[in-house]
Amino acid sequence: MSKFWSPFVKSLVPYVPGEQPKMIRLVKLNTNENPYGPSPRAIAAMQAELNDNLRLYPDPNSDRLKQAIAEYYGVRSEQVFVGNGSDEVLAHAFHGLFQHGKPLLFPDVTYSFYPVYCGLYGIEPGIVPLDEQFQIRPEDYARPNGGIIFPNPNAPTGRLLALEAIERILGANPDSVVLVDEAYIDFGGQTAIALVDRYPNLLVTQTLSKSRSLAGLRVGLAVGHPDLIEALERVKNSFNSYPLDRMAIVGAAAAFEDRAYFQRTCQAVIDSREQVVAQLEALGFDVLPSAANFIFARHPAHDAAQLAAGLREQGVIVRHFRQPRIDQFLRITIGAPEQNRALVDTLVGLGVGS
Ligand SMILES: *Cc1c(COP(=O)(O)O)cnc(C)c1O
Repeated sequence: MSKFWSPFVKSLVPYVPGEQPKMIRLVKLNTNENPYGPSPRAIAAMQAELNDNLRLYPDPNSDRLKQAIAEYYGVRSEQVFVGNGSDEVLAHAFHGLFQHGKPLLFPDVTYSFYPVYCGLYGIEPGIVPLDEQFQIRPEDYARPNGGIIFPNPNAPTGRLLALEAIERILGANPDSVVLVDEAYIDFGGQTAIALVDRYPNLLVTQTLSKSRSLAGLRVGLAVGHPDLIEALERVKNSFNSYPLDRMAIVGAAAAFEDRAYFQRTCQAVIDSREQVVAQLEALGFDVLPSAANFIFARHPAHDAAQLAAGLREQGVIVRHFRQPRIDQFLRITIGAPEQNRALVDTLVGLGVGS
């Protein structure tokens, strides 16, 4: 703390990202990165862009990328917003769409950046408990609010909410923005982007960090009614005109255009997930049904914090949250086949399942 800080800064409780260890040779299954690299076409596009043009500012509107996304989803460019990671897109949505002096509804077990943005933008959190099976109950979201946000599939549970259930939430809240954070939708869910033309209160965000393996590039997007997109543009253009650099614009656009690579790598992650689930269940874990590139699992005979520490000593890093309701769970990213094998072998070595 310092006398130079604005008083408000003293009250902030920042987000704590998963560890990015400097040690090499770790089996890193803690931040839901993709084990397969980005599309070779995305890499080539970025390499071609690495030239003297870098002295020039990028397109402030990222039109090339918005067009690629609009084409991919069959929407219009004015229904698309892009930002420096979906975290930035979410921040602009909190700022531009959720400050109505009423609580923002979100689940008790969810992405921990939501309460952080509530603190940053002076929004009251309206915490809605998940049911006993860690599922969102649509009927719980029919109460006064200044907006609603949840990931689908939810993080860190991995549980998917069906589009009909999302439609029930949208229908019950015609005067609020409902933001569906689809960071993991490509690993087995159906995108709610199909609903944006019917629900002017629906905003869908996605990221290129997970299914498109570009966490290091920092690109996220939102799709919704042009009026919602315009709010995000107004906030963005009052904050940073150039959130996406030249490399990010062409690399992200190429990633959307390379559908074959995308489908192949997502399917490989999904296939590995089903294998890991079966192997962990054979070791006695309870695993929540996952539609994401991670699983959320607990073992009735082993303390989660101790398991995480034991794995870590053997160079396998998973995520453990010291939080009510979920402190006996581990969130484990699906890695490459040899990483998943190392996870299971290390658990066996720790005596799990014997
Ligand atoms: C990873 C993640 C994000 C952030 O993605 P970035 O685009 O890397 O900022 C947003 N929401 C959820 C639920 C996530 O898990």
